[in-house]
This record gives sequence, C-alpha cells and structure tokens, in this order.
Amino acid sequence: NESKSKFPAYPGLERWELLEKMGDGAFSNVYRARDREGHKGEVAIKVVRKFEMNKMQRANILKEVQIMRQIDHPNIIKLIDFSESRQYYYIILDLAPGGELFHQIVRLTYFSEDLSRHVITQVAKALEYLHVERGVVHRDIKPENILFNPIPFIPFKNPKPKQPGDEDKVDEGEFVKGVGAGGIGQIKIADFGLSKIVWENQTMTPCGTVGYTAPEIVKDERYSKSVDMWAMGCVLYTLLCGFPPFYDESIEMLTEKVAKGQYTFLSPWWDEISDSAKDLISHLLCVDPEKRFTIQEFLAHPWIRESGPTPREER
Ligand code: ADP
Ligand code: MG
Repeated sequence: NESKSKFPAYPGLERWELLEKMGDGAFSNVYRARDREGHKGEVAIKVVRKFEMNKMQRANILKEVQIMRQIDHPNIIKLIDFSESRQYYYIILDLAPGGELFHQIVRLTYFSEDLSRHVITQVAKALEYLHVERGVVHRDIKPENILFNPIPFIPFKNPKPKQPGDEDKVDEGEFVKGVGAGGIGQIKIADFGLSKIVWENQTMTPCGTVGYTAPEIVKDERYSKSVDMWAMGCVLYTLLCGFPPFYDESIEMLTEKVAKGQYTFLSPWWDEISDSAKDLISHLLCVDPEKRFTIQEFLAHPWIRESGPTPREER
C-alpha cells in the first residue's frame, strides 16, 4: 500500500518501490527497492539530497557517476541508471543483498585465513581492474564500502576467539554455515564518491602529453594508487584479527601512529596466524609508498596464491 510507505515520496522515482533503508551517508540514503515495471528486479538506490549540497559537492556526485559509468567488473557494484529531480540525485545501483562486510566482521569477530583470502582476493581483483585497466584510484577502501552477495553455505572453519585462560585449549573452531551466519559469496566494491581518474585512458597514457609529464606528476600518479594498497592492508589486518591495525582514542596519537606506521601483530590474537599473512600485511602497511606493494605484487604473493578451501557458491 503506497500511502503507508514509510519512506518519503521522491519525485521521479515512482517506478521503484522502496523496501528498506540499507545505509546512509552525509547527504544520502541508500534503499533496497523493487522495480514496479518488473524488468530490473531488485536494486539499490542512492538518493542524494542535492538541495543540501554546494556546487562542488554536486560536481563530485556527477564525477562519481561519471567514473561508475566507465566501470564494468564482477567485483564492483554496477551503475544501472542515474536521474535527478530538482532536489535529489537518484543513483540506481546493482544490489549487493549481503550488505557491508563490516557487519560480518562484527558478527563473526574475525575471519579465518581462508575466508579472509577469499574476500581480499576479490577486493584485489577489483583494484587490479581499476588501477591497471581503468586508471582509477578508489581512495575509500574500507569495510563499510565492501559489500557482498550472500551464499547459502561456506565450508570454512572459523576459529573461535580466544578468551583469557583459553591459551592451552585446543581450538576446535566452528564451521560457518548458512545465509546470515557469514555466508560471504561474491564481493562487490561500492562508493566511488572519493575516487579519481589518474590515467586518461586504458592504454595507460598519463594525463597530459606523453613524454612531457614532469616526474613528480608521474610519481604522484603512482603513489595515488598506493593509497588503495595501504587501505587494503588495513582491511586484511582487520579481517584476520577483528580489530584495526591503527587505533587510538586521541586523533593526534592515531595520526602519529599512522604517519610512523606504528602497528604490531598483537599477542595472543596474532599468535596462530601464518607468517606468510603477516609478511603480506607488512608489505602493504609500509610507510614508504615506493616500497609498498602494487596490486600486481599483492596478487603474486604466496599467501594469495596459496589455495585454501574455496567457498562453494550454490546459485
Ligand atoms: P556514502 O558515500 O554516503 O558512504 P555509499 O555509496 O558508501 O555512500 O553507500 C552508503 C551505504 O549504503 C553503504 O555503506 C552500504 O551499507 C549501502 N549501500 C550502498 N550501495 C549499496 C548496494 N549497491 N547494495 C547494498 N547496499 C548498498
Ligand atoms: Mg561509503
């Protein structure tokens, strides 16, 4: 019953029946919605409150859409349609029914190495496509922007969190089964709100005239991709232990820790985690962007290439 809709009636969005609010941001609400015409099935709609934004913020939304238009990858949320009314922008997106990876970390405490690999490899495939083929830097990789499609069954052993006093108990772990119990299937990167094109086209031509580009520009381009690699290191760290590598209640202290790259593999949480995983993380959480792994180096690392059990996707 339309009159009972708990959501605002957005002009121009009549085709879509809003079903549920899935998330929100500073200027936006994201809804799960159903196509009344039936062609598109369920989608996600990002409704952006244009009227609260200044010129630059509006331009950024258009840029976000412009970048999304050029992107087509199985691990990246696809843009279906874009329209606007006087007050709103409507960004119609491919729905990721599982929602945020963030909630799964909270729910499971942390992921096994196999599940972490399953997730981060897909994030990396998305970044490889963006960095290498599209020349796009995402710049906002974090668990809230990593979404997923649920699968009914995952044959992964998820170790139980160790409690004080559990040190010498044998960790039986538990198998995570079923939708809603951590059944993470295909990963989908979302939120191109901060993304930027650093290469003009897919032939890897730097912006401006080839051959006349100053070294600091070329370096800058290279470094801008490395921000995604750092963020991926933070995500991988968090997946494996359940808390982020850098944290402090004081913003000043936190900033300093990040600037110096001060993190540790804290005992007992990291005791059982493989040296190979730690090695990979140390090449990502590396303060010098020149030494930090590129996406290709990441994908070639033994921990990524190691084959653990892969989740069976039952569609
Ligand atoms: P913001 O720029 O405000 O962070 P996002 O594009 O990240 O906007 O969307 C905000 C939140 O909405 C996401 O963190 C996620 O929870 C949800 N969301 C966004 N897009 C989708 C989608 N395609 N499918 C499912 N949920 C989504
Ligand atoms: Mg976001």
